[in-house]
Amino acid sequence: MEQIIEKLKQTARDSWKGETGEERAKHLESFLRTKLKNYSEKTGLSELEILKGWEEQRTYSAINFYQESNQPEIKADKVIIAESSEDFFKKFPSRKWICPNCKGISKDPFLCDSGIKLKLINGSNKKEICNWSAGGLFGTFGEGVHVFLKDKMKLVGIFKPIELIRKINERGTGK
Ligand SMILES: [Zn+2]
Repeated sequence: MEQIIEKLKQTARDSWKGETGEERAKHLESFLRTKLKNYSEKTGLSELEILKGWEEQRTYSAINFYQESNQPEIKADKVIIAESSEDFFKKFPSRKWICPNCKGISKDPFLCDSGIKLKLINGSNKKEICNWSAGGLFGTFGEGVHVFLKDKMKLVGIFKPIELIRKINERGTGK
């Protein structure tokens, strides 16, 4: 692992002359160590396994790839580990997801398509069809699930599968 980190630091040094390059290398190293520790703790995978996975995914410069937007901190206590998205969908075959906003059932785990009308945040006072996005500013209000895809070494936040909800009432909603 140290070899990989050292190699990445060298590419950062090479990206800019003198002190700036050295600063970039230091910054990259501290970013990597913080993220690897966090990801390893939350997923149970080794830091080396995660770093190798990231490096396999990376198609552009390390400085641009290793960024908060690509490797956000995993804050969730519970993370579902899946080999791939196919593996994840096998675990939750209903492919029905509870939208945290309208509480309806969405067939899309990222973007609500329940068709339920309600007053939208920042919308007009009229009722509009829910278009909640798990990737939006408010995410899933902590009501979604976090899935770690090992083939991409990436965390995704999605709506909660109905399989994880014990009681579904007659309206077919999660509440
Ligand atoms: Zn919705």
